[in-house]
Amino acid sequence: MPEFRCSECRKAYDIATMNFQCENGGVFKLVDKDVEFPVKKSRKPAMWRYYEALSIENK
Ligand SMILES: [Zn+2]
Repeated sequence: MPEFRCSECRKAYDIATMNFQCENGGVFKLVDKDVEFPVKKSRKPAMWRYYEALSIENK
């Protein structure tokens, strides 16, 4: 089930949310939990955020 995820703070939002951006002003990106990487905070966040964005765009 896909959901929106803030690209800044990674807070998850329901895809049916009426918000169009995060409360902190971050841009949403659409993610699918089924293909999310299990690695979270054990790696450098910036690096993994970039990696995840790439993998989603290439899907
Ligand atoms: Zn945010």
